[in-house]
Amino acid sequence: MVQLYVPLNFMGFVYREIKLAVADLEAMFLLLEKSPEVDDRPGARPLVVAGGTIRFEKVGFAYDPERQILRDVSFEVPAGKTVAIVGPSGAGKSTISRLLFRFYDVQSGRITIDGQDIRDVMQTSLRDAIGMVPQDTVLFNDSVRYNIRYGRWDATDAEVEAAAALAQIDGFIQDLPNGYDTEVGERGLKLSGGEKQRVAIARTILKGPPLLILDEATSALDSATEKDIQDALDRVSRGRTTIVIAHRLSTIVAADEILVLEAGEIVERGTHAALLAADGLYASLWNRQRKAEEVRETLARITAQD
Ligand code: ATP
Repeated sequence: MVQLYVPLNFMGFVYREIKLAVADLEAMFLLLEKSPEVDDRPGARPLVVAGGTIRFEKVGFAYDPERQILRDVSFEVPAGKTVAIVGPSGAGKSTISRLLFRFYDVQSGRITIDGQDIRDVMQTSLRDAIGMVPQDTVLFNDSVRYNIRYGRWDATDAEVEAAAALAQIDGFIQDLPNGYDTEVGERGLKLSGGEKQRVAIARTILKGPPLLILDEATSALDSATEKDIQDALDRVSRGRTTIVIAHRLSTIVAADEILVLEAGEIVERGTHAALLAADGLYASLWNRQRKAEEVRETLARITAQD
């Protein structure tokens, strides 16, 4: 038995170590924002951001040649404005943010920032200009302070704490056993999805980029947490050119423009009010979500009464 137990136990150890290494690798890619897929062109120049207008011009993209993901996608996010992208799962919403980050190159059309094709600029300068609050933030196995400071290494402790306060996570951190020095991540304290997202927001506030991509978490958060996160996101996006990849339509009612993506194509666009009036796909997604919310609220009320 012992003979069997030792190798199995060892394999368990190896498995856990590999899993941690993979998590760390993912963290590296996400956090160092490096893409194995694309290289700088010879003579690439640093991106110069004036106002920060983003344009997608007839963008076509496929991860593999057999399956087209985006077709003829064109839109503009004027400097300082917010455009939301909604649509069914798998429509290609997150792919748009990966292309803006240049994790992959477009196969047709082009993406520009203040008129500069993003394939012509240095990747480091592109990624310095864009802040990303991803769906699921991977944290380093280090202190909360380190994880927030990742947004800007030269930030002082006071700046880190001010960013945490704006992201509505300072109270939570102060209550941790070692406050800002508490170890988090795979090897430390595990944070909930909402807490991790607020750490990502604090990190982005510290980075202070002119362009923002907010990839909303799909997982349901309780409504108090959702409101806190929404307030924090509203604060960070004020005055910055922002693309919101939205799953909950209630969070994007105030967007300057909403794009409805279906199977890689923009099938509707407009403000919330105009799209409701058009009574198309957006209106049906909206009505479905409203009904689901009503059911959730009724269930919560019944459970609270018990
Ligand atoms: P969700 O709302 O579920 O997050 P989405 O609209 O953001 O979905 P994308 O993540 O952009 O959808 O994915 C669009 C399509 O591309 C999906 O069918 C997905 O399976 C496929 N896809 C995504 N990433 C890759 C990849 N790295 N390689 C191959 N296919 C991929």
